[in-house]
Amino acid sequence: MTLSLSTNLESVRNELDDVVRVFFGDVTFVPEHGNIHLAHTHSEQDGRYVETLASGSSRCEKQAVIPSGELEKKRVIKRAAKTALFCLLKELTGIDPPWGSLTGIRPTRLMYEALEEGLTPDAAEKRLRDEFFVSPEKAALVKTIVRAQAGLIYPPEDSFDLYIHIPFCATRCAYCSFATGEVGDGKLIVPYVDALLCELKSGASLMRSLGLSMRAGYIGGGTPTAIPAAQLERILVCVRELFGQGSEFTVEAGRPDTITPEKLRMLKRQNVTRISVNPQTFSDETLRLIGRAHTGEDTLRAFALAREAGFDDINMDLIAALPGEDTDAFSRTIEKVISLRPESVTVHTLAVKRASRLYEQRLLSGQTRTRADARDTDRMLSLALSSLTASGYTPYYLYRQKHMAGNLENTGYCLPGKQCLYNIGNMEETQKVLAFGAGSISKWIFPRQKRIERSANLRNVEEYISRTDEMSLKKQKIILGEDANEKA
Ligand code: SF4
Repeated sequence: MTLSLSTNLESVRNELDDVVRVFFGDVTFVPEHGNIHLAHTHSEQDGRYVETLASGSSRCEKQAVIPSGELEKKRVIKRAAKTALFCLLKELTGIDPPWGSLTGIRPTRLMYEALEEGLTPDAAEKRLRDEFFVSPEKAALVKTIVRAQAGLIYPPEDSFDLYIHIPFCATRCAYCSFATGEVGDGKLIVPYVDALLCELKSGASLMRSLGLSMRAGYIGGGTPTAIPAAQLERILVCVRELFGQGSEFTVEAGRPDTITPEKLRMLKRQNVTRISVNPQTFSDETLRLIGRAHTGEDTLRAFALAREAGFDDINMDLIAALPGEDTDAFSRTIEKVISLRPESVTVHTLAVKRASRLYEQRLLSGQTRTRADARDTDRMLSLALSSLTASGYTPYYLYRQKHMAGNLENTGYCLPGKQCLYNIGNMEETQKVLAFGAGSISKWIFPRQKRIERSANLRNVEEYISRTDEMSLKKQKIILGEDANEKA
């Protein structure tokens, strides 16, 4: 199916495209004469914006009072145009998406915005339902998450969180689109760690000069435990010497096939407080299909080893809507995870991005996402929510990605008091993140200017190794240069 969209206001085109994808997935846009043609018109009348969306004889209109301030004007136009398009497509297709007209990554932001305006949590939840057409279940989920983040959302001003990216994995999963490669012959690992230590040293002196200290640390990937214990230990020793201990430190042990007693002992010795052991699913058939070189038994073994090594804060990642899995299969995985009682569980929705093998496979087989998939996926997420909350877990952070099955969400759950500070600060974008390693992105927050600057490192490992100084300088320029501006 093809779709064409005309507008007399080009600046809203991307937002309108996003709403279209909520209903039609990865539809092909053509310049004109698509199977469906949508026409957007922006106009102003009597101090109001009027956004009109039409297709054939169907038409929806949304009006909004023109506010003052350029940024606010843009925001109001986009919201009104998206709402009008949402209503039109809902009428044309009969589909009622659970997240309504929301297409952004952080639905919690709207609730925080409403609370800042002085609304009560109940009124803010109602606004999500009434103005953005969010389903009662999702609106309640957002409210629960905001409640779970109380007291943890705004970190001390003189702190930052640290992220280190390890771009190596044992094998590449079919759905993976991350900046990671297979360990292969391992020749790049030592030069990579050498480069990383140089970048860390430069970052540490920058933080010292600004008087900032590390609150939370996180080593992710890739699979950090895919590299030899000695190399991972070099990184951890260096971090501790340069940045101190912080209040929490996570290492994604991720793939169970990379977890050994030796590595776990080393992580414990280096005061790592939290690790992830990620089953994704307990179905061996699915694990084989998605290219993960381990079984459900391997996950159980790795989890038991982690407990034996003394880890009392373990996260497990799961994915809903994996190829070939129905609600029953997903339910078996959830039950298994609950029986293990990890301190936190992150329920992802499969996101098939263009850079993944799964995307190519689906393209070749002509398989596209359908609304039936979306409904099944939403049922799986509802099941996760009810089973986990009934077992004492609380949802505490949530984010959405594009290309997700059903345009749904990823949700982090935890037992009482086991919220991961790094996850909250990073997902809600309330904490500065100083990031190191190939493909990592530092995020620097300038609260007074309500602005976030990003500094991305090169993704290619060889290029990263040969150009580390350049990336340190780039980061420094963004942080110092802008910091000076903010102080001025
Ligand atoms: S373990 Fe994660 S990072 Fe590694 S290949 Fe699989 S999805 Fe990608």
